[in-house]
Amino acid sequence: MIGGGLAGLACAVALAESGIKVRVFEKRPHLGGRATSYTLPDGSEVDNCQHVTLGCCTNLADFYRRAGADGKIRFYDRLYFADREGRRSSIAASVLPPPLHMAPSFVGFQALGFDDKAGIAKALMAIAWAGGRPRDIDGVTMLDWLHRMRQTPDAIERFWRVVLVSALDEELAQMDARYGVDVFWKAFLGSRGGYRVGIPSVPLAELYDGCRDAILRKGGEVRLRCGVREIRLRENRFAGVALEDGTEISADACVAAVPHDVLLGMLPAAMAEEGGMLAGLKHIRTSPITGVHLWFDRVVMKEPFLALLDHTTQWIFNKSLLYAHAEANGDGPAKGQYLQLVISASYDLVPRSRQDIIDLCRRELEEVLPATRDAKLEKATVIKEVRATFSPEPGVDQWRPAQKTGVEGLFLAGDWTQTGWPATMEGAVRSGYLAAEEALASFGEPRKFVQADLAFEGLSKVWAKRAQASLS
Ligand SMILES: Cc1cc2nc3c(=O)[nH]c(=O)nc-3n(C[C@H](O)[C@H](O)[C@H](O)COP(=O)(O)OP(=O)(O)OC[C@H]3O[C@@H](n4cnc5c(N)ncnc54)[C@H](O)[C@@H]3O)c2cc1C
Repeated sequence: MIGGGLAGLACAVALAESGIKVRVFEKRPHLGGRATSYTLPDGSEVDNCQHVTLGCCTNLADFYRRAGADGKIRFYDRLYFADREGRRSSIAASVLPPPLHMAPSFVGFQALGFDDKAGIAKALMAIAWAGGRPRDIDGVTMLDWLHRMRQTPDAIERFWRVVLVSALDEELAQMDARYGVDVFWKAFLGSRGGYRVGIPSVPLAELYDGCRDAILRKGGEVRLRCGVREIRLRENRFAGVALEDGTEISADACVAAVPHDVLLGMLPAAMAEEGGMLAGLKHIRTSPITGVHLWFDRVVMKEPFLALLDHTTQWIFNKSLLYAHAEANGDGPAKGQYLQLVISASYDLVPRSRQDIIDLCRRELEEVLPATRDAKLEKATVIKEVRATFSPEPGVDQWRPAQKTGVEGLFLAGDWTQTGWPATMEGAVRSGYLAAEEALASFGEPRKFVQADLAFEGLSKVWAKRAQASLS
């Protein structure tokens, strides 16, 4: 296994559970890839960026169970929003059957007017009525689709954009409408629990200890700070890898679970040339995410997290509360508060200085969290992930390769491979499970790891069935 991110770990654990001896080679000093945490020079443990899961991410939930980490994810049923005036709204499921379960709290959503809500309701019902597959969205951007559905500017900015830019790490004008529609169908319309937000209550790296144990138990090995330089092929078969220190390693099969641009550098150049097996990878663009970590000298926020409307900052996570520090709950002496802010598709922030970004975020926080005005900012850090995820632009799926390659014994995993999902932890785990299924099938020991999606409920179940029937 080359790469110890979520795709590599999910695949390695699945293979180990099937009795395969897996050796994981990870270039960095810790597991988890992009979804990890590390220690700053001053000793604070920070996530590379806040990561959240949703109730509809069934494979990620399965992976956390296998890794013994499911108890470290806490699910929240209510989502909180704040507008420029600091006004709060929140949404949560009611007793109504899907797709109507969110409707009562949506009606009370303060930041939107009647016309905005009527338009949004019409578009959401069009998605649900079509069983998640509205016609004529192929090759269309989400923004085009929203214009077609006659959404008001406020509905686009204060509703669709707020949910989708952070879910898919791309602007609406660059986003494939199919991915955008899928987010609403799977998370908010299809079932009652799909939208529930799951947040780790520990630093991300602590979620993966069980993976290492599962691999070692079966006689496997996890080697950190151990980069692979080259994947060697002979007569269209996997022949071995060369590590960065020059060591040669052989194996029956190899799963390459590294980012797509890294993979290209490990394989013969001809594979990336026109007509080559991986020529499509050069067309996959990436988009940035910026995380801003702020430590205040006092408690400035009560909610566990907040989505911001009309701001550059998209989400604020109350890390002190999420890590369940008693003082942040007001149960003990208030010693300060650690917040993490997330800005997806942060193209505008990439060239700006870190201090500029911190100043911008502080100004925005003063609008939505008035207590920050008098608070002292004790420490701040900015983490720019310039190539955070692949961009879900229209047509991107044609460039995403399957997990089984044309080379015997070589398999691919990674959120960028063909999973039907955008670049998410769920997509990464699915790719790992699919790669494990392909590898085991090639050994003549087929097994299934990919989990079913959340079952559709209520009217959504009826409409999903009808959509399925019309396809077959
Ligand atoms: C800032 C940010 C925020 C995000 N937020 C969310 C979120 O809230 N929810 C969500 O679901 N998803 C989120 N994502 C996306 C999610 O992190 C990724 O989709 C997922 O972690 C990808 O996993 P992966 O295993 O495919 O790739 P990676 O995590 O990139 O793993 C690849 C691994 O390969 C290793 N590697 C590279 N080169 C070599 C080499 N030569 N030899 C050996 N190893 C090598 C890398 O070090 C890495 O560990 C976010 C991503 C970022 C960057």
